[in-house]
Amino acid sequence: MPPEPFFSGPGLDRADALRGYPDKIAELTRRGDARELAWRDGIPAIAEGGRLEWQEVGDAALFLGFDGEAPRFSALAEPATQPFAVMPLLAQMHEADAPLFAAAMSLARWHSRHRFCANCGQATEIVRGGWSRSCPACSAEHFPRVDPVVIMLAEYDGKLLLGRQSHWPEGRYSALAGFVEVGESVEAAVVREVKEEAGIDVSNVRYVASQPWPFPSSLMIACHAEASTADLKIDTTELEDARWFTRDEVQGAVDGAEDATFGAPPRTAIARTLLERWLGA
Ligand SMILES: [Zn+2]
Repeated sequence: MPPEPFFSGPGLDRADALRGYPDKIAELTRRGDARELAWRDGIPAIAEGGRLEWQEVGDAALFLGFDGEAPRFSALAEPATQPFAVMPLLAQMHEADAPLFAAAMSLARWHSRHRFCANCGQATEIVRGGWSRSCPACSAEHFPRVDPVVIMLAEYDGKLLLGRQSHWPEGRYSALAGFVEVGESVEAAVVREVKEEAGIDVSNVRYVASQPWPFPSSLMIACHAEASTADLKIDTTELEDARWFTRDEVQGAVDGAEDATFGAPPRTAIARTLLERWLGA
């Protein structure tokens, strides 16, 4: 069985039942085994060996949960001083810490971007250990948002449809993807995105796996679908190219073969999981 998608492991015990009790959370910050996540340049700090860095609890604005018995906290994220490249950063991260990185990253960034009530405009307050914000003026409660994205393989006659964007590394092809719109099911979003980007109809949409993607708060929903034709009509404003690949070509790319027809997405991308599971099926 191929590995689980990066970022999607168990992570911490999030201890939801404690979030409504600020006194109990304050007590946890004083425990000897309590730690606070270190941040550097606007992201959780990554030490040698790809593990997250921890320090003494100072600013415990966010209660992340328990690592075993040990309470874990985070300060609010300071804005990045410079833009960072996501993929090289992920390449050096230990997969065991990836789920916690994703949770802390999305949560802290959400706070920095949602300080005011979307309903009445008043400044809101952090409540529930940092897992929501409450408005003192109109009592609205605001929760960290998750943005669903569908990412899919379309199959026709034993071949897979993959595309590439112009800014990707040379030769890389990957699954098509797009945001789910309001009032839309996952299945409908898959059908629409493939039609928009590649001009073909798909059906029999099946869910395969999911992955949080904390840049800033996406949930990648990976699917497989069957195409009714191989005749593509590519939307070049979205894709530089899209084409069909045989099982042998996909296998060669995933193996990193020297004569591979294309470059596969990295292990941190759920598109890679989709390709590996298709090969294994
Ligand atoms: Zn309000």
